[in-house]
Amino acid sequence: MTTTELSNVGDIIQYQRDYFQTGKTKDVNFRIEQLKNLKQAILEYEQSIVEALQADLHKPEVETYLTEISVVKDIDYTIKHLQSWTKPKKAAVSWEFFSYTAKIYPEPLGVVLIIGPWNYPFNLIISPLIGAIAAGNCAIIKPSEIASHTSDVIAKIIAKHFDPAYIAVVEGGVEASQKLLAERFDHIFFTGGTAVGKIIMAAAAKYLTPVTLELGGKSPCIVDTDVNLEHTVRRITWGKFINAGQTCIAPDYLLVNKKIKKDLIHGLEKSLKEFYGDNPVNSCDYARIISHKHFDRLVSFLKDGKVIIGGETQSSECYIAPTVIDNVSLDDSVMQEEIFGPILPIIEYTDIAEAIALINSKPKPLALYLFSQNKNLQKRVLQETSSGGVCINDTVIHFAVSSLPFGGVGDSGIGNYHGKASFNTFSHNKSVLQNSFWLDLKWRYAPYEGKLPLI
Ligand code: NAD
Repeated sequence: MTTTELSNVGDIIQYQRDYFQTGKTKDVNFRIEQLKNLKQAILEYEQSIVEALQADLHKPEVETYLTEISVVKDIDYTIKHLQSWTKPKKAAVSWEFFSYTAKIYPEPLGVVLIIGPWNYPFNLIISPLIGAIAAGNCAIIKPSEIASHTSDVIAKIIAKHFDPAYIAVVEGGVEASQKLLAERFDHIFFTGGTAVGKIIMAAAAKYLTPVTLELGGKSPCIVDTDVNLEHTVRRITWGKFINAGQTCIAPDYLLVNKKIKKDLIHGLEKSLKEFYGDNPVNSCDYARIISHKHFDRLVSFLKDGKVIIGGETQSSECYIAPTVIDNVSLDDSVMQEEIFGPILPIIEYTDIAEAIALINSKPKPLALYLFSQNKNLQKRVLQETSSGGVCINDTVIHFAVSSLPFGGVGDSGIGNYHGKASFNTFSHNKSVLQNSFWLDLKWRYAPYEGKLPLI
């Protein structure tokens, strides 16, 4: 059996609670061993992971290494820093507390649940799992049923290398999720859409379970005049069309200074040819849409505005060409919901204030991109907008920097992870204050008469 049967979910949680109670996972050396074990398991299954992602998303092998198997680098980073992260940290105290010492002890939460999406189905399960292990927890993971081949590989890897009383996989869709959500966990880490995020949070509320919600949204990409155009178009093309646009932090739409719009469109056309050739359907470097349901949803956007690049589709293959749309209206459905596919609408502005106002009229996005070398403009956009993260003069790549916490704000999510932030997410910071017996000042004790001036 590679996967925990749904009927056994309650038992598995109990085994994990018993396992956690043994205190084994609190030992830092044990955690490091398990992280090494996870890395070894991923490397052993490298080829199966590549094949699963090819089957699920037609994901090119290079993209699989770059965006999925690359989680092993997070394991190395975590192992390198774990001893220091787990050490109790001294906290400063004010002079009134001169006889005390204050320390913060990070402690594991217990049994945690990790639910993942289908778009980076390996990375977005394993990356939070690294944090859960590093912080000393037991974990149940539920990969997305929609990327079913990857879900199977994850289940095999975990079943072969981990005791289910420590780490277990539950495969399945909404029913499996809901069965899990009916149970008590010590933390729920969810990656997926905003609508389902609300369901997760409502279920967690029943037990006051803390949640991390890594959600989506419409991430804007501003392009102003002061840029290296050749680099700009390449970086936008890559960030938008990698994984056929099915990336939570893909630039959702472009906000382009009117003065540069014509050159930018020309540049995008050129870089798309460079990346995927004259006919991207024949390119082995271009992914497919995950399902017919998502394909149909995306095709419906093609009626909005005017298609100026791409627009071709093949239903049998779930193929949508890299597409750029001009003349969209803010009321069009393509501007109303997260696109999550290879369609890039362009909106022009004459003054940056218009771009900022548009961004601020929408829910807070997961990422915001700004292409400009103008320091004042950069400062203004940073000050006047709010988003999960910002990447200036590039796209998507901020996700790969372990020292930067990754997460959303407002509708794009709650909490964050990656590197130390993952460790923090899966830890409780226990504050410990210790007094000594060499002194006992009586000013705080009753009777209080005459003590007011001392306070
Ligand atoms: P989804 O919300 O439909 O599904 C995510 C997970 O939730 C899956 O495992 C699914 O089985 C489960 N699920 C679905 N419906 C459920 C329900 N009613 N009750 C309980 N569980 C349920 O998301 P998706 O379609 O897999 O992924 C796409 C979305 O995820 C996009 O909005 C994207 O922006 C977002 N996303 C965010 C990040 C991030 O890091 N913030 C990363 C990737 C994807």
